[in-house]
This record gives sequence, structure tokens and C-alpha cells, in this order.
Amino acid sequence: PATAGPLLPVVGSDTLVPLVDGRSVPYANLDVAASAPALRSVADRVAEVLPLYASVHRGAGYLSQVSTALYEASRQGIGAFVGARADDVTVVVRNTTDATNLLAGCVPAAASGAPGRVLVLDTEHHANLLPWRGVSGAAVRATTVQAAPSVAATLDALRGELAGARSAGDPYALVAVTGASNVTGESLPVAELVALAHDAGARLFLDGAQLVPHRRFSLAASGVDYVAFSGHKTYAPYGAGALVGRRDWLDAGTPYLAGGGAVRNVTVDDVVWQTAPARHEAGSPNVLGAVALAAACGTLGALDPEALVEHERALRERLVAGLEAVPGVRVVRVWEDAVDPVGVVTFSVDDHDPGLVAAYLSAEHGIGVRDGRFCAHPLLRRLGHAAGAIRASVGVGTAGEEVERLLAALETFVTDGPSARYAVVDGLWVV
Ligand code: PMP
Repeated sequence: PATAGPLLPVVGSDTLVPLVDGRSVPYANLDVAASAPALRSVADRVAEVLPLYASVHRGAGYLSQVSTALYEASRQGIGAFVGARADDVTVVVRNTTDATNLLAGCVPAAASGAPGRVLVLDTEHHANLLPWRGVSGAAVRATTVQAAPSVAATLDALRGELAGARSAGDPYALVAVTGASNVTGESLPVAELVALAHDAGARLFLDGAQLVPHRRFSLAASGVDYVAFSGHKTYAPYGAGALVGRRDWLDAGTPYLAGGGAVRNVTVDDVVWQTAPARHEAGSPNVLGAVALAAACGTLGALDPEALVEHERALRERLVAGLEAVPGVRVVRVWEDAVDPVGVVTFSVDDHDPGLVAAYLSAEHGIGVRDGRFCAHPLLRRLGHAAGAIRASVGVGTAGEEVERLLAALETFVTDGPSARYAVVDGLWVV
């Protein structure tokens, strides 16, 4: 059994959950892949800075100067956390979805003048699928390749598509792939992704939403061109995330939002835009969000990277082994040979609706998991889980005992069934 305590203190871990039988138990938050609780250090930093914020960049008052300095130092810290190169830009955005939509407006057109091409896999989160289809107005063309059952065959499929497009005279500008799947926690080897994209004259964007909270990542060391991630999955609150990477596309791309702060000069008929990052940050920025995210980056960045990996690997291994030992429980995988998956595990329970299992875990055991299709409908459908599945995820704030509670609860579920009566109301399972 897993006995480790949390690696870092997070807030909210003493929350009590009322159960259907009248008892209250501590909340076991095994849904940190959706949103992770704030680190204690982040909460302290936000409390410290809350009285200090004021309008940034143009205010001459003392607090405006303090806020501007805090905001720019946060940008610096966030970029440093993902190993930004000296000439990379860190754009503070709302979340990963915002980052991919922003980058979609910066992909250069093909030499023919046609919209730039973007290559994705069918394993992606919708945030790394839909923006590339141009639905929000960006001039991009997406092609989706189906991931193969092995890592090597998947890399070959990407390579083949890139080579074919190149020899047809319509090369890709960008390959956009997840750093770690939000469904299975699995990853493709980053060095090989970088090599295959660069060999084909394309750049590599990594959706880091599930990678950077769980593994030390560096743009400079890996050669990845762009990375995006979300504060609320990186142990900071909602509303701030980052897009970090090569300057040229971001300087030349369509300004993400039109408004104050993104411009050099405006006349009645014309506008001269700023370069990045200001070009994409119109409107009053989320100073507190950036400070909170930078605080999380600082704390995670100061951790021994091996301790981070070891903590999560032990929890994940116990979780997977324990799940596979429960009769009727099946763990979902994309690749038979994925190396070093992060602490995100999706499973199904034979003959039981995922929504019922999740409702039971919450109502009878105080355990929070996620059920559904995880904003990855194409993948869930292809893997035979069109009706959804159940996801448990762990992080730096997770204790081994929480994983044990989940495994024991599932064992009780498959042996005895739920003790309360559940029904579907407005599409949700409730007691
Ligand atoms: N990519 C991945 C891999 C994710 O897990 C998520 C969030 N579930 C996103 C992108 C989107 O993140 P956000 O909702 O913060 O924009």
C-alpha cells in the first residue's frame, strides 16, 4: 500500500465531505488533473500581494510601479520555470486554451499564401484540436493523424505525413502535440518530436497543461519551440496561464485581443501594434494571477526534480496495480510502450456507468474523481469509451492514503454495489 505523505502542502486538504450515511470524512481530491489545489506557498504569496495591486504599466503612482514590477518579475519567473531561451517571449494568458487560440493566430501562411498547416494527433485535448481548425477565425489548416498503438509507429505516422506534405510542396508550419495526455498521462518522447518536426522544417508546440505540473520541462534543453500551460493545473488559482516560445511568430502574428496596452499608436483610421508580449495582452492584465502562477513555478522549480518524479511515480504505480486488481476494472491506454507516464489514470468498471461510479465515490466515500470524455472525444470514441470513463489523478499534494481509499472504495463497489439509490437528473448521477 502507498503510505507516502504529500510532497508539498496544498490548501483545502482538510476539507470535510458530508456522506450519505451522515458521516463526514476528509476530502480525497483525486481530480487534480482538472484543477489542482493551490500550494500553501501560493496562498501565502497571494495574501501578501493582494493589498498591493494597482493598474500596471502606465500608472505613475507608487502601487502602480510596485504592480508593474511584480507583473514583469512574474512573467520572468514563469518563463524561467519552463526554461525559456534568452529571446523567447512569455505571454501571460488565461489558460492553455487561450494560449493555443493565440498561437493559431500567429502561424505564418504557406509560401503559396494559403493558411499555415498544423499537424495534430487524435489523442489531443480539444484545446489542442479545435483552435487549429480555424473556427475562431485564425488562418490555419489542421490535419489530424491517428496515433498508432506503439510510440514508434505513432512517430512514424507523423514523420510520414510531414514528409508527404513536404514533397507535395505544401509543408507543415507546426506540429502540435500534448506533453502528457490528460486521459492516460502518457507522453511521446519530446526529443523525437522535436527532431521530426524540425527535420520537416516545422516547429513544435507542446501542450504542457498536464506535463509541467508533473515533470521538470525546459524549452532550452529540449529544443521545443512553444509550450503552453494553465495556472489552475499548476497549483495556482484560475485565470492565469502562459504561452512561452519563439519571438518571431509572436511579434508578427495577429494581436490576440484588440484594445489598450497592445498598441504603440492609434489614429482614427489606423493602429500600430506593439511587439509581443504586449501585442497579445490588451486590457488590464491579471496581475494577481501572474503573481500566483509565478509563486507556484518558484516552489515547483525549487523541488528536487527526482523527488517530484518519484512521488508521482510511486502513487501512479500503486494506483494502476491496485485498479487492475479490482475485478472488472480496466485501465485505458493509448500506447502499449509509453515511457514515464504522469499521475493521470483513466479506467472503466465493466457493466457500470462511469457517472454512477463517480457519484458513488463522492457520496459514499468523499473521493473526488472525474467522469466523462475529458474534452478528448475523438480519443475516447476510438478507444471504445464513447460513453465516457473515470479518471483519477494525483499530484504533489496527494498522499498515498487517498489512493488506498479509492482502491478500497472500488473494491466495495464491485463486491457489494452502492448502498444508496442513485438516479440520473439532468444528465448527472445523483443520490
Ligand atoms: N490540454 C490538456 C492536456 C488539458 O488537460 C487541459 C485541461 N483539461 C487543457 C489543455 C485545457 O486547459 P484549460 O482548460 O486550462 O484551458
